[in-house]
Amino acid sequence: MAIKPVAIFGGTFDPIHFGHLRLAQELAESIHVEEVRFMPGGTPPHRAAPQVTSRQRLDMAGLAIGDNPLFKIDDREVRRSGPGYTIDTLVEIRQELGPARPMCLLLGADAFLELATWHRWHELFAFAHIVIAHRPGFPPESWPARMPEPLAREYAARLMRQPFAVHLSPAGGIVTQAIAALDISASMIRDSLARGVSPRYLLPDPVLDYIRSHQLYVTQEVNEAR
Ligand code: ATP
Repeated sequence: MAIKPVAIFGGTFDPIHFGHLRLAQELAESIHVEEVRFMPGGTPPHRAAPQVTSRQRLDMAGLAIGDNPLFKIDDREVRRSGPGYTIDTLVEIRQELGPARPMCLLLGADAFLELATWHRWHELFAFAHIVIAHRPGFPPESWPARMPEPLAREYAARLMRQPFAVHLSPAGGIVTQAIAALDISASMIRDSLARGVSPRYLLPDPVLDYIRSHQLYVTQEVNEAR
């Protein structure tokens, strides 16, 4: 029997919302993965004054995935001290999975278009496939103009037409997938909370209850440039 892929879904998840959860659910089903590992990362450097701890982002991710049997939490990036790079994480996970099991890195289209800014990004393909989910504001027709030349070259060379093709090799391909278009972002939710507007129905109720009981995101962030 073929070995099912493991999917890695990294993000800041500050906070986790239904856009993240639909992406994971739809990609898990379309590519028939063994599991999706939600991996909250360290706080990005542009975020000057995080109002929420890594522990709280992890807690919220745990509440959001609930008892979904396809979803797991992986806390290795928040446990790591110092800057965490996705390439290091993938190297580590590849060692754990062994050489044969397909591994898929799940990304929204906006994150994929930034890929060429990532540390040692070319090497990611040696360890995983990249599965790109459509995201409102980043329609596929706009990707060629938004991709820097080196990324466009990799995209053209690695694109696989069928999502299921990720089962045929452990790493190295790119697949794109349309998903339910949910124009939700964590920044939109943080802004709503800071303005006293309810973000209910943009994220799971247990996550919103947690935000309220810990009084998270109550003030505008120091760095509002995003
Ligand atoms: P922020 O608004 O703080 O930038 P975000 O909502 O984009 O946050 P992240 O934690 O940065 O959330 O995103 C993690 C991953 O989920 C990224 O690959 C991103 O592209 C993807 N993603 C987030 N929201 C959506 C969405 N609504 N539709 C599709 N992909 C999404």
